[in-house]
Amino acid sequence: MTDIIQLLPDHVANQIAAGEVVQRPASVVKELLENAIDAKATTITLVIKDAGKTLIQVTDDGVGMSTTDARLCFERHATSKIKSAEDLFNIHTKGFRGEALASIAAIAHVELKTKTGDTEVGTKIMIEGSEVTSQEAAVVPKGTTISVKNLFYNIPARRNFLKSNPVETRHIIDEFHRVALAHPKITFVMLHNGSDVFNLPSSNLRQRIVNIFGAKTNEKLVPVAEETEIVKVSGFVLKPQFAKKSRGEQFFFVNNRFIKSPYLHHGVNAAFEGLIKDGAQPGYFLFLEVDTKSIDINIHPTKTEIKFDDEHAIYAMLRATIKHSLGQFSIAPVLDFNKDSGFDTPYEYSKKSPVAPTIEVDKDFNPFQKDAKQGRGNTSYKREKTASWESLYVGLKQDTGEVTSVENIEFESEEVTGSLFDTESEEAGQITFQLQNKYIMSPIKSGMMVIHQHLAHQRILYEELLKNITVQEAVSQQLLFPLQLQFSKPDIKVLEKVREQLEHTGFVFSALKDEQIEISGIPVSIIESHVENVLESLINDIKEEVPDAGFSQNDLLAKSMAKSMAIKTGTALNKVEREHLINQLFACKEPSMSPYNKPILVTFDVTDFDKKFM
Ligand code: ADP
Ligand code: MG
Repeated sequence: MTDIIQLLPDHVANQIAAGEVVQRPASVVKELLENAIDAKATTITLVIKDAGKTLIQVTDDGVGMSTTDARLCFERHATSKIKSAEDLFNIHTKGFRGEALASIAAIAHVELKTKTGDTEVGTKIMIEGSEVTSQEAAVVPKGTTISVKNLFYNIPARRNFLKSNPVETRHIIDEFHRVALAHPKITFVMLHNGSDVFNLPSSNLRQRIVNIFGAKTNEKLVPVAEETEIVKVSGFVLKPQFAKKSRGEQFFFVNNRFIKSPYLHHGVNAAFEGLIKDGAQPGYFLFLEVDTKSIDINIHPTKTEIKFDDEHAIYAMLRATIKHSLGQFSIAPVLDFNKDSGFDTPYEYSKKSPVAPTIEVDKDFNPFQKDAKQGRGNTSYKREKTASWESLYVGLKQDTGEVTSVENIEFESEEVTGSLFDTESEEAGQITFQLQNKYIMSPIKSGMMVIHQHLAHQRILYEELLKNITVQEAVSQQLLFPLQLQFSKPDIKVLEKVREQLEHTGFVFSALKDEQIEISGIPVSIIESHVENVLESLINDIKEEVPDAGFSQNDLLAKSMAKSMAIKTGTALNKVEREHLINQLFACKEPSMSPYNKPILVTFDVTDFDKKFM
């Protein structure tokens, strides 16, 4: 028998390869957008006609290509991104297989216009079914424009298999979202049949999400952040109440590359267990950063599936981190009673039989007798001169008189106990008890009151901080040894912007240098060892702030600090601490809503209980 094996001609090989890389117009969009990102573009414009069936055009202002490269880029396995097999384990670009342009050029009419920064004139190349039909010099701006026309013109079967325009457009938008989310710093514009679909300015992740999915998304986002040796996780999940019946916004990015991972998806779902209905789909925008050596992105031509070395560890960490975030932001399950006791607005609440006065407290009892001698850096400090809950109540209603009277107390920053309140006296007072170190329960005349301890403390601190920032008479605890903290340059810039407000809360900055700050005084309500955390989350919150969210800087500052300073869920509180917290809460202007608009307390009428026994 004669030899029958022969090598396929290039254009046939390219067409076959194209089958893997290019399934539909959206695949072309993905490859072209990724090339533009790899070319370090700062602005990328996508133009689509007829769901990409007639035209897909991507313009970037990236590095561009030389004339030789412009010709070479359409060859199969032509890539500037890797040189050897070892490089496969150290991928920092989107592409590396060098087959996208070759594949696309095999099945469409392609026009490439490109120019690098160091030449006057650029190059224009036309290519159809892998055949170059023209090449000439062209006057074009720096960067690259690739137009892909008549996709699958030479493979009718494929073309006929394309779905309706709305469906194909949906796929394109999905790809566009994925790329745009992974690169919020890059400006993206998308036009379809001549009209604007997206116009996304350079921004941070939160703003990018909001710009894509709408202003309402902002309040649904719960930040997620954790770092271990094997993986760094950041991003957002959507609050459980916004879970959808169908898969909505679910995005995993690994080293800024969108990936699909049913396994990790399961991990996220597990974190939401008990918080959403069975079958409901949580929303998430999660960014994982891992060592490039610990993953293999090479297993799929479209690179949306990757293999991790430590999949199980990542799963466990993801689940725990998200659980923690949901807990920290008090997206905790709300008690599931019929809500009929007028809790919709704080005002309605105040019309009800007044709750605060029903708490009976021994007015002569002073929980802080011992404390006054000790001097401690904690939130109760400012109040420690006052004897009873009544005077606490009055204290807040008054202006700053009370605050100034504390000025001559000596604060010792060393005496940090981590506990908020005096733990010694356990005598008189209203009955209160703690449920799962999270809720404070107290019988009231009409039934039962349940207070969320972390949210309650947030409210107390928030009002205190806001008052201090605006009234500007906060007291500061002098540190014996100035605290030196390292921050990045951009972070220091952020701090500089809010320095004045921070000083009003009691911070004393003795130096704000390039990458280091020195603090010689801190607010009385903060523990020295928490300062770094508090400032860090403040910087993050400011960076993440969506400018048009309608909050003033002061408000943001007070909220952010209150959030990170407040006692956490899981902290055991003794009787005195519980009562003190309740008293302080009811001295607030808005005791029933947290600064982030979550209910702080709920009441249950005895009739609510009665119903359960029928
Ligand atoms: P890969 O991205 O895997 O390297 P492609 O076929 O997508 O393969 O692209 C081939 C090469 O063409 C790239 O490696 C790059 O050098 C060059 N290239 C493609 N698109 C652009 C662009 N928008 N700007 C500059 N260079 C580009
Ligand atoms: Mg590529």
